[in-house]
Amino acid sequence: MPPFRTAGVGLKQPLAAHGLPTGLKLYGSHTWSDNYFRYLKPMILNLHDTLSGEPRAFAPADPKRVTMYVCGPTVYNYVHIGNARPVVVFDVLFRILRHIYGEDAVVYARNITDVDDKINAKAAADGVDIGVITNKYADAYNADMAMLGALPPTFEPRATQHIDAMISQMERLIAANVAYAAEGHVLFHSRAFPDYGALSKRSLDDMIAGARVDVAPYKQDPMDFVLWKPSKPGEPEWPSRWGPGRPGWHIECSAMIEQTLGLPIDIHGGGHDLIFPHHENEIAQGRCATHSDTYARYWMHNGFLTIEAEKMSKSIGNVLLVHDLVRQFPGEAIRWALLAAHYRAPLDWTGDLLTQARKSLDRLYGALRRAADLSVDAAAQPPAAFLEALGDDLNTPRASAELFALARVLETSRDAAERTAAKSALLAAGKLLGFLQIDPDAWFEGGADGDLKTKVEALLKTRFEARQAKDWATADRIRDELNALNVVVMDSADGATWRLKEGA
Ligand SMILES: [Zn+2]
Repeated sequence: MPPFRTAGVGLKQPLAAHGLPTGLKLYGSHTWSDNYFRYLKPMILNLHDTLSGEPRAFAPADPKRVTMYVCGPTVYNYVHIGNARPVVVFDVLFRILRHIYGEDAVVYARNITDVDDKINAKAAADGVDIGVITNKYADAYNADMAMLGALPPTFEPRATQHIDAMISQMERLIAANVAYAAEGHVLFHSRAFPDYGALSKRSLDDMIAGARVDVAPYKQDPMDFVLWKPSKPGEPEWPSRWGPGRPGWHIECSAMIEQTLGLPIDIHGGGHDLIFPHHENEIAQGRCATHSDTYARYWMHNGFLTIEAEKMSKSIGNVLLVHDLVRQFPGEAIRWALLAAHYRAPLDWTGDLLTQARKSLDRLYGALRRAADLSVDAAAQPPAAFLEALGDDLNTPRASAELFALARVLETSRDAAERTAAKSALLAAGKLLGFLQIDPDAWFEGGADGDLKTKVEALLKTRFEARQAKDWATADRIRDELNALNVVVMDSADGATWRLKEGA
């Protein structure tokens, strides 16, 4: 929280009364003091809500416990760069919410889908239990997302650990006459929920006309969707009163949200491609099971990612895996590239985009390196214009422009106090977006071992944040990863330093 925010300091009171310098020009038409006071106001956050179709001022149900859920990966392979976009976009939102409401006041869950046809197929092909596949790729996913600077979510529920919650939700849906059992299946009867289609703005009849609808003898209506289905021989199965089987995908999220966060939640996020049918079905399940008007109070969806103007697909051979990219480029540059467009706009991933991202960070780190002699005000806050940009539905392109404006002051001003303020504000703003936290020299010491350096710094940053969040499981996992990289970490009051093990 910014200092004095609630202390009743009026704009008309003299700055000197609060020990603040006066009249320093920061950039553009703002003076340092203007800027300082502008961020004493609470940050305003407007979010584009898919359900209402318009931007809305964000107000959580309970500011002491702000809840957010984002659909996570199905873990049967390394994820592609399109899957990383929602992770980074909603990581920015997670950081903004923590900035506004406090780090302990935001509860963020991102699930792991660890039961699925593709997982079964992969496990059968490799001759192993599905857990071998899902653990391997869930760990790789988390390590790769950490390289992109994504903070670990508060909860990472796995489908196989919440089967009871799914069965409980199905029982209530059947009791509410919106779901039924047939031939070992449980199905949701879409026509029983009058608001079905409200999120995707389509009527049931439009959906039938436009969609690939599975017609099956056990369905009362073509648009009914599966909540539970019998497992085929050799597939994992769980007992239920409808027979041994496994859950459908959609019931996973609504049940895990109910169990880990409680319904309704404040924000539900995911890729644009999940609006229909996944999120439409989640709303139907969640609202009917809890007899509520609301499932998520704000719905947010990020746009598609294309590769050199083409859809990513195996047949074209243009699938870019994050696991490979983070070994070729600094994670921070990949993160920058993912935030280069507004999150709702399509993002075209090109070689040039990554080169530009790296150059942008070179400029900012270069300004910081040339200002290494200046001290940093640890209590500095991101400037108002930067917060206003992010508060405007996460306008990251505009927020990045504010970072360059600060770097320009840092590079061109001759006033030491002004430069110190600019450097401090640049680091504070960078931190809020998940950038500029490594030593500038380390950034430029790319070369042969740059990959390792970047990776270690990213892991240390995540470990530090995990420890601050008292997330010991993540901190321990990262320590093990660092150990595997032959890295020795030395913790001190000033933070952690590291070196390679001797002989490594
Ligand atoms: Zn989901």
